Amino acid sequence: MKKKIILLGCTGTIGKNTIDVIRAMRDCFEIVALSAHTREDLLLSLAKEFNVKNLTLSGKENSNKEIAYHSHEGLLRMIRETDADIVVNGIAGSAGLLSSFASLESKKDLALANKETVVMAGQLIAEAEKKSGKKIIPVDSEHSAIFHLLQKRDPKEIDEIIITASGGAFRDMPAEKLKNVTLEDALKHPNWSMGKKITIDSASLANKGLEVIEAYQLFALPLAKIKVLIHPQSMVHSLIRTNEGSMYAQISKPDMRIPIQNALTYPALGSSIFGRLDLANITLDFKAPDFDKYPMLSLAYKAAEHGQASCIAYNAANEVAVDAFMKKEIRFTDISIITDKTISALTQKIINTIDDVMEADRKSRTIALQFIKELK
Ligand code: MG
Repeated sequence: MKKKIILLGCTGTIGKNTIDVIRAMRDCFEIVALSAHTREDLLLSLAKEFNVKNLTLSGKENSNKEIAYHSHEGLLRMIRETDADIVVNGIAGSAGLLSSFASLESKKDLALANKETVVMAGQLIAEAEKKSGKKIIPVDSEHSAIFHLLQKRDPKEIDEIIITASGGAFRDMPAEKLKNVTLEDALKHPNWSMGKKITIDSASLANKGLEVIEAYQLFALPLAKIKVLIHPQSMVHSLIRTNEGSMYAQISKPDMRIPIQNALTYPALGSSIFGRLDLANITLDFKAPDFDKYPMLSLAYKAAEHGQASCIAYNAANEVAVDAFMKKEIRFTDISIITDKTISALTQKIINTIDDVMEADRKSRTIALQFIKELK
């Protein structure tokens, strides 16, 4: 029996890597639905290659008869109406939030690459998971590592989890120089090839900040037990420490296809299609992160401590500020200033429903845009 997969965001980085995994494991998996935002040609060519009938183009009008579902509404309908075992949510940004809920609510496992789902609605998605009887399997490389390491352990044995960070484009740059870095500088990621927004988030460590919040929501540990460690080689994808002091790591090549494969085959493990890492002659370095140099990291801990609304503000303000940085309207160092101010300015504190999440997100974006205007 092949596992039936719905792949959301099939033309993005996660989507392309997922397609690679499925191409290599055609005996195990079958794609039953695909979504793309605007890249109609690529969506149609993948549909043809894998003989997929259920297609969504969510972000633009089109007249092609082969595409049955349109707009964000259509995307959610496709998830609910298609019979499948697992949904890979590779949609970027807060646009992926409702798809995660639709997946669990329609009784499908969720291979989750969309950080925003957990960052913006951690408690609500945990409740949806519980209610559905299905499983969230993280695809983000760090959370995938921790998730699979924790499978082997009693939660009572865990002392802390340690999320590794490459350090991004400005790893070796002194803090005082960050004020003058350009967009082009920020887009040079040393190890991973990813989308623009996440590459800038890696340079500011906002990506790691989001991952700290994500881990806090996913793994139900006190914030003080979630640590970050700079590891430039990106081969140790994260670690756990057990009570007696030992650490266990997941180590492999920096290749997104490995965590994706592990999510798709879960609870089993597949074979090593994407290369084995030979540790001989490899040096692995680690150092503590500099919280003063990377205010986005300290702000993430602050937001997680304050609660869900502050996490929403953190994510929204960062998205808006990164967008402004990409348009060259603000400096790199303004990203954290705007995020900090937005967290403080958001007065909404109660998040009980998805509508509350959306409202806090909307308000935070308005606040952040106002601060950007004042800076200009
Ligand atoms: Mg990651």
